[in-house]
Amino acid sequence: MTCVLAIDIGGTKLAAALVDEAGSVVRSATRPTPRADVMSALAALVEEVTGDGPAPGAVGIGCAGPLDLEAGTVSPVNMPSWRGFPLREEVRKLTGLPVVLAGDAQCMALGEHWLGSGRGSAALLGIVVSTGIGGGLVIDGVPLLGRSGNAGHVGHMTVDPYGERCECGGRGCVERYSSGPNLARWALANGWQAPDGEPADARALARDAAAGQEVAVAAFERGARALAAMIASTAAATEVSTVVIGGGVSAAGPVLFDPLARALDDIGGLPFVRAVQVKPTTLGVRAGLAGAAKLAWDYSRSAAA
Ligand SMILES: [Zn+2]
Repeated sequence: MTCVLAIDIGGTKLAAALVDEAGSVVRSATRPTPRADVMSALAALVEEVTGDGPAPGAVGIGCAGPLDLEAGTVSPVNMPSWRGFPLREEVRKLTGLPVVLAGDAQCMALGEHWLGSGRGSAALLGIVVSTGIGGGLVIDGVPLLGRSGNAGHVGHMTVDPYGERCECGGRGCVERYSSGPNLARWALANGWQAPDGEPADARALARDAAAGQEVAVAAFERGARALAAMIASTAAATEVSTVVIGGGVSAAGPVLFDPLARALDDIGGLPFVRAVQVKPTTLGVRAGLAGAAKLAWDYSRSAAA
């Protein structure tokens, strides 16, 4: 066995790659996620990647959640045609190979730990800040998936027990303060306007914050402070030493990371919490595929042992 098949399934894009044991991508392809019959698109993508390439020995899949690892099913929030969809079994039938499944942000964390910003860290939290906030933990080199596969859902950690109601049903979740749409929502409510003809989103807000626009700067300060509270709490619970932040909002750069460092300095107390290193992603959108490949490699090694 010289490679594994890695698959990354999101609401907007499907990606697949053949990845060797060192993490090098042998072949890869992507296509948009269709609104219906996602499985046919996935089958065509797998065919494109595996066609006349080396035969993979196992499949690793990172998929948007929630998922149920015991049942091998997925119900991605932004893919309404998949509810309790038996993804693991369908891909096993499609490929005839052993299949291992995890959440997309868990795979991002594992990928960054294997090949990216978190390389060599004893314990890592990966965070994806975009439309929502996802996360994954890698403890002693092993992804912490949780019984049903939903461990690491740090976006729904409460940072204000008296805070606003979140879409998940909880209250004061960090996602309610720090995701892209919520950054823009708060800024708009406080007098910010997007430049003419541009969507009022986190990207425009980041540009205005970088230019020093007061409300835009304040929006990122507020979002960064909520993120810092979540990171400090997670560090206190798990002793993560490294936090890697990816997702569209992380592209904001210093307007996010500078106030985040200041807030962590203010919020963190115990020395091991204060020692947490926060870094931007180095793999970007490739982190999920890298993590899915690592899952498959680890799975085949444990199966062989
Ligand atoms: Zn929530």
